[in-house]
Amino acid sequence: MSHVFPRHTKAELPIAVGGDGCYLIDAQGKRYLDCGDAAVSCLGHSNPAVIHAVQEQVQKIAFAHTGFMTSEPAEALADLLIQHAPGSLDRVYFVSGGSEATEAAIKLARQYFLEIGQSERSRVIARRQSYHGNTLGALSAGGNAWRRAQFAPMLIEMSHIAPCYEYAEKTEGESSYDYGQRVATELEVEIKRLGPETVMAFMAEPVVGATLGAVPAVEGYYKRIREICDQYGVLLILDEVMCGMGRTGHLFACDHDGVAPDILCIAKGLGAGYQPIGATLCTDRIYDAIRNGSGFFQHGHTYVGHPVATAAALAVVTELTSRDLPARARNMGDKLQAKLEAAFGQHPNVGDIRGRGLFRGIELVADRDTREPFDPTLGVAAKIKKAAVDAGLICYPMSGTRDGRRGDHVLLAPPFIIEEPQLDELVDKLSVAISKAI
Ligand code: PMP
Repeated sequence: MSHVFPRHTKAELPIAVGGDGCYLIDAQGKRYLDCGDAAVSCLGHSNPAVIHAVQEQVQKIAFAHTGFMTSEPAEALADLLIQHAPGSLDRVYFVSGGSEATEAAIKLARQYFLEIGQSERSRVIARRQSYHGNTLGALSAGGNAWRRAQFAPMLIEMSHIAPCYEYAEKTEGESSYDYGQRVATELEVEIKRLGPETVMAFMAEPVVGATLGAVPAVEGYYKRIREICDQYGVLLILDEVMCGMGRTGHLFACDHDGVAPDILCIAKGLGAGYQPIGATLCTDRIYDAIRNGSGFFQHGHTYVGHPVATAAALAVVTELTSRDLPARARNMGDKLQAKLEAAFGQHPNVGDIRGRGLFRGIELVADRDTREPFDPTLGVAAKIKKAAVDAGLICYPMSGTRDGRRGDHVLLAPPFIIEEPQLDELVDKLSVAISKAI
């Protein structure tokens, strides 16, 4: 009997014993093409440069508390991230994962306004059908009804406006651009409703991952969001925990939209799975307010800036940038999109195939014409997940109907090193899984 407490307590999970490029290997020797449960493994499972960096660092110094000392890899990683970061993001606060990154972002926004004497600002606006992590602050920002339900009485009150979800929400005859402007305006309406002097931040994912299935915003949406935030003195927090680090074809996903946030959260691909690490980047304006004010960020965890984790991430970001892997994600992503369209474009239950780079989503519907989702009791996403694992494919099917709104989708996030034959293998295995499930 296993004494590990798994998330799905009734599931019998295989034991992972090895990794080889894009494949995971279990104790029975079965190979699984890893196309991203949680979009972590951007470099595959056996990258020699990252493995070497971890080994070397652990021999030098494994841990030094950042209350006393910084470390060489943390300094070098922050420099490298800032060299590539959009806008005037200039400081990096290291954490151990995505939820810690968004949680730190919320607290940083709050402390910034305290430091500049705007203590009334404490409200966060985020979006429905979103996910920003599972700690209580991050969960409060998330607008996913199913994930929030059990903890509702314990959550911080935050507002949720509409996501930018063209396939499901754009009305007939409306252009993509107009639709984006319309939903962006919801932010302005909500800021005014709450009172601009009480709002501190708006938080959103540039390309929505887990909750919608690789849904990018339409052109012009984020530009308008940025304008609204600036107009009302509200900080823009972008959550790139899943879509960042090259996954969408740019090192930072917001580069595609041509906007820069005040605070940016990354994780997952930052450590590529070799170490747990995340980061919250912010502008000098925010950092200086604290430095010139109280001089102390009232937040922190023991493993902030962990030397081995930052050494791994330094090697990951060096791989990503020196080999221009985001460009590779863009090219292979276009190929994947074409292959998915060829395989499923006419499928009666495939409503939409979308995404950016190697971050793709397929939305499954009961009726293509009406876009009617499947009855949630059918558990289509769960059936696809099981059939995919049986076929040797790890992907991320999710059921949006848990939100009481939309249907099932499959999220695909393969490593950037994936080759064309493996893209074919992905599409073939997914085809098998979908036909078994529906
Ligand atoms: N934000 C986003 C957009 C995510 O997708 C996730 C994880 N799926 C998180 C935050 C939380 O990250 P973690 O699971 O590392 O805490």
